[in-house]
Amino acid sequence: MLRMVPLPTSCARREELGVALPSPYLLLMPTVQLNTDVVLGVAIPSRNARGRIARLGRVVDSILAAHNYPPAIETLLAEALTLTALLGSLLKEPQGQLTLQAQTQGGIVDLLVCDYLGGELRGYVRHDPELLEAASAEPNLKELFGEGYLAITFDQPIAEERYQGIVPLEGKNLGDAAQSYFAQSEQIPSLVRLAAEKRGDHWFAGGLLLQHLPEGEEGRERLHTRLDHPDWPHIAILGGSVKREELTDPDLPLDDLIWRLFHEEDEVRTLDSVQLSRGCRCDPDYVRSVIARFPAEDREAMIGDDGVIRVDCAFCSSSFAIEPKEL
Ligand SMILES: [Zn+2]
Repeated sequence: MLRMVPLPTSCARREELGVALPSPYLLLMPTVQLNTDVVLGVAIPSRNARGRIARLGRVVDSILAAHNYPPAIETLLAEALTLTALLGSLLKEPQGQLTLQAQTQGGIVDLLVCDYLGGELRGYVRHDPELLEAASAEPNLKELFGEGYLAITFDQPIAEERYQGIVPLEGKNLGDAAQSYFAQSEQIPSLVRLAAEKRGDHWFAGGLLLQHLPEGEEGRERLHTRLDHPDWPHIAILGGSVKREELTDPDLPLDDLIWRLFHEEDEVRTLDSVQLSRGCRCDPDYVRSVIARFPAEDREAMIGDDGVIRVDCAFCSSSFAIEPKEL
């Protein structure tokens, strides 16, 4: 059994520490706190399994605080943000953007959008409060979205690569839909688990994504498809045994949770981590430049009774007042 974690660069050589580490561990504490607002890479090389584990705390709290949604919608958005973090951290380019968008018809929710850019997350939901009132306390995807589809867009500007996969919103939660996305669109055996809950006054959400990817292959670049490899069911059972309360527990570091799930394997590696934050890219100067491009009569029509043009950001609920004379 070998458990490996990234070494802090300041003590990359064990000898420099001047302390004896208990064999057979090659274990040093990572430099970042692996409890909340972080995504951590995971690999189980002997089973050709790789993935990500994430937990969100303050980030999800602050995003939800801007919206004032009912609990069922808060749970949905918290899980969607966690999935966005898991998928976004798969992007190779730091400037890459991952967008999750639900397109729906006849459900409680008619729009859900989340995105990820360099560890920054944002998201919002548009829903019908009356339909939600009439639904069950914990509505499933069908009740929430009606006839819905989830569009997952990977955008990597440097490689000029844009890829969108679309899957039906079916199953218990967004984790099920994401799992179908990988199975159908990318032919990669995958496991996705998501959970979100309010503990006291604070929201916590967690997610696990595991994929069967033979060495040297990543995401959609994989060359061979083998959905029946014997290593995969084993990993899927161990990963699938993760409990909701483990995913959301802020006192359980993510590397400890990975160890708990996979300690019987020959080797478990935790890889790079990405710190998550709440970030919105709405920018008054940018909004001004967009409005300035409209014809004069259109801009005139945008001016409200108070003499300014008001622009609201759906993501962060900010409202900008633009003075027409500034344009
Ligand atoms: Zn904003």
